[in-house]
Amino acid sequence: MKLHGTLSLSLALALCCNACAQPSSPKKQAPIGAKTSATAPQGEAPKSTSSKSAGPRSGALRINAARAMQYTREIVGIGPRPIGSRGHARLEAYLRLHLKQTAANVVEDAFTAQTPAGPFAMRNFIAQYPGTIVMASHYDTVLPLKNFVGANDGGSSTGLLLELGNQLHSQGKLPGYSVWRVFLDGEEAVKEWTDTDSVYGSRHLAAQWSADGTTKKIRAFLLADMIGDADLDILRDENSTPWLEDLVLQAASNLGVQSHFFANTTAIGDDHVPFAKAGMPVADLIDFTYGYNNVFWHTPEDTLDKLSPRSLEIAGNVLLETKRLLDQK
Ligand SMILES: [Zn+2]
Repeated sequence: MKLHGTLSLSLALALCCNACAQPSSPKKQAPIGAKTSATAPQGEAPKSTSSKSAGPRSGALRINAARAMQYTREIVGIGPRPIGSRGHARLEAYLRLHLKQTAANVVEDAFTAQTPAGPFAMRNFIAQYPGTIVMASHYDTVLPLKNFVGANDGGSSTGLLLELGNQLHSQGKLPGYSVWRVFLDGEEAVKEWTDTDSVYGSRHLAAQWSADGTTKKIRAFLLADMIGDADLDILRDENSTPWLEDLVLQAASNLGVQSHFFANTTAIGDDHVPFAKAGMPVADLIDFTYGYNNVFWHTPEDTLDKLSPRSLEIAGNVLLETKRLLDQK
């Protein structure tokens, strides 16, 4: 993904480099109020508030953090997963196997993308139920980096999306909107992040949905990216739809985890942008302060030991709570 603009002082110093910035990029300050532990966040509201719907309720969907982490571990265990690699093909087979178990219908959107490094076969997976909320993640890892396993960037949100399927589709018919889970390919730039060298799968799928009318059915497009960081600090994104971002924050507040959300604001280039351009309400749940000065991002340091099941749990439950709030709107 890529940052745009200079909207936050603490992030501004990182902005001279784009999404493919090197780890030696100029230092930025840790965000004010940054947390040091996702398991003992400060300043969180108690779980019960005056609102009756605030705390966990019987029947409310909540993810199984240990299982989400186990999926992430298995995905990362495959090794590097850039487009065109053996690891990528193995992950496709892994997704296919899992999605069979938790989706009424799985659409494979295979296409060939023209990239600066030549044509690549890519494939989005869309796990469908009759429904109009989308939850999405990219599953590829960045191409040019050696020994990059993408535990957080690619792995964590893919693992979470698999676990969300267990919750969303284990109880028969869901109340309210159903959910499509979309596993997007080719998020990462092949050479350098530009409008045409990035988010290949999203651009392909958003164009297809515009052409076939699906766009009009989508109530909300919720993207997760890099949400496994043990020090979870999800940005408020100015490329997302403001009312949907507000709803995400309300969901986080309902669950008492709002201290992990929106301490910083910036504009993120990521898989949600093509869907926003196509007219869908979108929200990107992304933590783009992965280690001090984002040092772990796009480096071989993006490994499982930096992740926390608690972070997967927070992000996953906020997605589920956001869906519940959308159902009520
Ligand atoms: Zn990345």
